[in-house]
Amino acid sequence: MDQVFDIVIIGAGPAGLSAGLYAGRSKMKALILEKDNNGGQIAITHAVENYPGSIENATGPSLTKRMVEQCQSFGTEIVRDTIESLELDGDVKKVIGEKGTYLGKTVIIATGADARKIGCPGEKMFAGKGVSYCATCDADFFEELEVFVVGGGDSAITEALYLTRFARKVTIVHRREGLRANKDSIEIAKADPKIHWKLHKVVKEIKGDGILESIVLEDTRDGELEEIFADEDDGTMGVFVFIGMIPHTELVKDILATDDEGYLITDDEMKTSIPGVFVAGDVRSKKVRQVVTAASDGAVAAISAEHFIFGTP
Ligand code: NAP
Repeated sequence: MDQVFDIVIIGAGPAGLSAGLYAGRSKMKALILEKDNNGGQIAITHAVENYPGSIENATGPSLTKRMVEQCQSFGTEIVRDTIESLELDGDVKKVIGEKGTYLGKTVIIATGADARKIGCPGEKMFAGKGVSYCATCDADFFEELEVFVVGGGDSAITEALYLTRFARKVTIVHRREGLRANKDSIEIAKADPKIHWKLHKVVKEIKGDGILESIVLEDTRDGELEEIFADEDDGTMGVFVFIGMIPHTELVKDILATDDEGYLITDDEMKTSIPGVFVAGDVRSKKVRQVVTAASDGAVAAISAEHFIFGTP
């Protein structure tokens, strides 16, 4: 591809789509490269009720659809490709994918983050067959069954509440007494008769013979082990894991600075140490990771890229 874009954006989550919208609207030639589905994490999030203006049918997929349409309506292209490496020095940056090489005067890295795994025996074996990282995708399979939700943050509590619509019983397994989730959701979850709690517990093993039949929990205070079996009539159970995220920094981890948790460091204008290279969204080092903050990062990054190319007005 010989065309040189003003901005090449890697990732079509809320940060990338917002950057694409701002870029397109200010008449810059912008390209978004996405290896998977558009929307990033919100593509698999059931309810997004805290994005301003997102009220009726506020699902992740419906919000994604509107973001994509709005972005494309201003001329920003979205291309499906997996990016393998970057050459970021010089005035024209090279973004090298499986299908082609893309050239940009600036690059915005909006690669997001992925679900952290428990790392216990059995987790990999039962992934997609009883172990899930996405309630929206898999809740349906657990109609009237018992499910365990691992984690104590907003994702765990929000998705546990969603799962009560499908499962007969939802047990939240969390490694300590305190929960990170916001107080309102915790109160709603605590009042829900379908939700049960196993606090001070971690999952040590996930077991079964072909289908998931039991989980082994360890008490974080005294190390005591407890094996919980699926109800005999059910024959199986579900384990939904929401224990945080791992940032997607593979492309730049040796060239850009990261914080202690591996997120990419920028300034308030989303600038990195490399001129013309910006970072936006959940992959960025910051305190609050919400759809609204990702979208905000994307807008700021696109405006900074514009100033980089055309000068600050
Ligand atoms: P999070 O806030 O980082 O919470 C992760 C949870 O998993 C914590 O309770 C943590 O326990 C636990 N955990 C971490 N590693 C573990 C391990 N190895 N074994 C067992 N438990 C482990 O992650 P999140 O819930 O995915 O949320 C990420 C961000 O998105 C947050 O900023 C959150 O507010 C936001 N979010 C917002 C909404 C919403 O507002 N609707 C929905 C989803 C997510 P400790 O507390 O003990 O560390």
